[in-house]
Amino acid sequence: MASSTINSIREHVPEIATEDQEHRPVAIDIRELSRRYNDQPAVRELSLQIQSGEVFGLLGHNGAGKTTTIRLLTGLIAPDSGSSRVLGMDSMTHGADIRARTGVLTETPALDSRLTGRENLQFFADFFDIDPSRARQRIDFLIDAFDLNERESDRVGSYSRGMHQRLALARAMLHEPELLLLDEPTPGLDPIATRIVHLMIRAFRSEGGTVLLCTHNLEEAERLCDRVAVLERGQLIAIGNPRELTSRIVDQQIEIEIAPRYRDRARTAIIGAVPGVTVAAAENLVRVDGVPRERIPDLVQALAGAGIPVYRVTPRVSSLEDVYFALHEDGRAS
Ligand code: ATP
Repeated sequence: MASSTINSIREHVPEIATEDQEHRPVAIDIRELSRRYNDQPAVRELSLQIQSGEVFGLLGHNGAGKTTTIRLLTGLIAPDSGSSRVLGMDSMTHGADIRARTGVLTETPALDSRLTGRENLQFFADFFDIDPSRARQRIDFLIDAFDLNERESDRVGSYSRGMHQRLALARAMLHEPELLLLDEPTPGLDPIATRIVHLMIRAFRSEGGTVLLCTHNLEEAERLCDRVAVLERGQLIAIGNPRELTSRIVDQQIEIEIAPRYRDRARTAIIGAVPGVTVAAAENLVRVDGVPRERIPDLVQALAGAGIPVYRVTPRVSSLEDVYFALHEDGRAS
C-alpha cells in the first residue's frame, strides 16, 4: 500500500528545481526579529525573506531558536523588537489570520488521542469551517496519501509515533494552506513514512505552496530545500542554497591515487603547484584539502611534470553536513 501511495504521489511531483526565485512574492519577511526568555536571547536580530513557492530549511542545534521563530511568525508570542510578516500580514496583529492560512506542525502536535484518525481530521475540518463535501474529499485524500487507511477508524491513542506524525501532517494540510511551518516533521519515522512525508512536502511545493522546515536532518534539508539558513544561539550564521553553501564554506578536498613510492615527490609537487593546501598521504592515496576547483588542473600538471603516474583524481563531494560542521567548528573557535 505504501509503495502504491508513493507512486501515485510521485507521478505528480517533479524533482525540486533550483530555478531563480527572486521574482516571486515574499511569503515570509522577517526583519531584525529578537526575542528573549528570562533575559536569555532565543532569537537575535534575525532577518530573512522566504519567497513564495520555496522550501526553506531552518537548521541549528537544540536551542538555536527554530521553534521560537515559528511561534513568533504565527503570533503565538510577541517579539521584544523587530517584526515579521507572513503572507503579507503582520504576525503581531494578525496571528489568527496567519494561522488560518498556514499549516503548522509543532513538535508536540495537538491531536485528540480518544478520537480516531478520521474523527480528528473531521474535528479540524469543522474547526476550519470547511464545506462538508469538500472536507470529506480532502480527508479521504489525506488518509490515503499518508497511508493511514488501515487504521483510520482506530483511536489515535493506539497509533505508533510514525502514524501519529503522519496524521499530524495531514491535519496541518487539511485546510489547504498556502504555507506550511513544519517543526521537525520526521524524527523517529521509519524510511517509508519519511518518504511519504517528503513526497507530500514536494507535492505541496509543486502546487505552489511555501514551506518553512525546521530540521536536524541535514540529508533531509539537502534533499528538500531550495535554500537553508543556519541558526546558532538565535543568530543567523549562514544562508543560501545547499550547493552554493557547500562550495562557499567547505574546502574542496580531492583524493589522488598514485603508486606508494611516489608519495614524497607528489607531496612536494602539490605544495609547489598550489601553495597553502594541506596534503596527507597514506598507501597509494594522497588527500589534498583546500584546493580551489580551478587549480585542480595545475595540480595534475605538476604531478605529471614531476614524472608521477596518476591513476585517479577524485573530488570528494561535500554535503550540507560538511557545511554544518564547518560552521559550528568556526562558532566554537570564536
Ligand atoms: P530544538 O531543536 O531543541 O527544538 P530550537 O532551535 O527549536 O531547539 P527553541 O525551542 O526556539 O530552539 O529555543 C531557543 C532558546 O529559548 C533555548 O535556549 C530555550 O531553552 C529557550 N526557550 C524556548 N522556549 C522557552 C520558554 N517557553 N521559556 C523559557 N525559555 C525558552
